[in-house]
Amino acid sequence: MRYVSTRGDAPVLDFGDVLLEGLAADGGLYVPAELPAISQSDLADFASLPYHEVAARMLEPFVAPSLHVDDLASLTRDAYSTFAHPDVVPTSELSTGDHLTELYWGPTLSFKDVALQLLGRLFEHELARRGTFMTIVGATSGDTGSAAIEACRDRAGIELVMLHPAGRVTEIQRRQMTTVDSPNISNVAIDGTFDDCQDLVKALFADRPFRERMRLGAVNSINWARVAAQTVYYATTAVRLGAPANAVSFCVPTGNFGNVLAGDVARRMGVPIDRLVVATNHNDILARTHRTGEMAIAEVRPSTSPAMDIQVSSNFERLLFELGGRRGAALAADMARFRTEDALALSPDVLAGLRAGFDAGSASEDEVSTTIAAVNESDGRLIDPHTAVALTVARRDAPAGGTSTPMAIMSTAHPAKFGEAVFEATGIEPELPPALAALADRDEHLTALPNDLATLRDFVTAAGLQ
Ligand SMILES: *Cc1c(COP(=O)(O)O)cnc(C)c1O
Repeated sequence: MRYVSTRGDAPVLDFGDVLLEGLAADGGLYVPAELPAISQSDLADFASLPYHEVAARMLEPFVAPSLHVDDLASLTRDAYSTFAHPDVVPTSELSTGDHLTELYWGPTLSFKDVALQLLGRLFEHELARRGTFMTIVGATSGDTGSAAIEACRDRAGIELVMLHPAGRVTEIQRRQMTTVDSPNISNVAIDGTFDDCQDLVKALFADRPFRERMRLGAVNSINWARVAAQTVYYATTAVRLGAPANAVSFCVPTGNFGNVLAGDVARRMGVPIDRLVVATNHNDILARTHRTGEMAIAEVRPSTSPAMDIQVSSNFERLLFELGGRRGAALAADMARFRTEDALALSPDVLAGLRAGFDAGSASEDEVSTTIAAVNESDGRLIDPHTAVALTVARRDAPAGGTSTPMAIMSTAHPAKFGEAVFEATGIEPELPPALAALADRDEHLTALPNDLATLRDFVTAAGLQ
């Protein structure tokens, strides 16, 4: 499998390079030169296989020839053994007939674990194969930080420095990061905002000699390996709900467009998926783009689903590349215009392609709260606000009279991770799962630093492997 950049001007690479590189040298994102196909008989087999074996089967064509199939199989087995449910990604059904794909059974109770538990192991394996190391520096406003830390802790060849804005993440989120006691993990609380943290990370990466000396790397959602890992649960859910004989639709709470893009990739590979519904909170750039044909940045407003408080959805570029006929130079020009003008009109063809494969909608904060309360009322069950965004959009925009195609809602976080919003909506405090409850008694490990690049550079130098 060879990978090409969406902007058409970066070297063609194999999986191992794409894994460690992340972003392409031309600023684009790597995508496979050609997608592998899944046959009906593959899908029929999936019904009787455990999740980690389906993952190995689906990912094999993406990782060859960098990674041997036996090694891949042992990495997927190991990665998904950390999940607290025997099905890894189970499905459940509400009394209203909506299906939930439960993506929150990993170590940090968010869907990020599904990709990152595998990504950390893929990094470790590839670094050992090359006899090298990497220093991962990231910034988090909450969810990604703890999932990345759990994915990388105690892994050989990896040093991870995770920045968060001091006092601006929830106590649970902070403790999920800082109570990890591992020699290769450093938590840094920056005296500033999340944007300050991101600017510091960007400035570190822009310092070329530093970046090369430290072998800086990232775990952000533009890494193709994350997208590939996320195709797996579309297949396992579809099979459970009637594939290959019948198609399934999905409604996906969306921020960076990584999860729903993986659904589109699964569909292109041959998983029988009918509609993919893009669900946003009031930060609705994607729903507006779908409606108006213009991708226009607005100001980010905080919400109860903070993992979706995003205006620029980086993975959307991969869909634009596909819908635009894989023309890298043209997309590079479009993205340059989008950068300077904060807006981009989609061509009629691209817009038609978007509408042919996707629906889109947004949920207000009131609707999210109402949906959480309604599910508690109908099913005695608590859902988190990200899941509620998707359920709101799925129910509101469902075709009248129903359809024979089942709809699965991507449930991306455990309600206890967003207990405040759940309590506001229902008056019920979600019970902390044992893994979270135990955090309260553990020691925290973190370093407070000022919002200053030179200080951070010294800190990373001291932490790094070199
Ligand atoms: C990251 C995240 C999302 C958004 O996923 P994208 O792949 O960025 O679209 C939704 N819900 C939760 C809980 C998340 O952590």
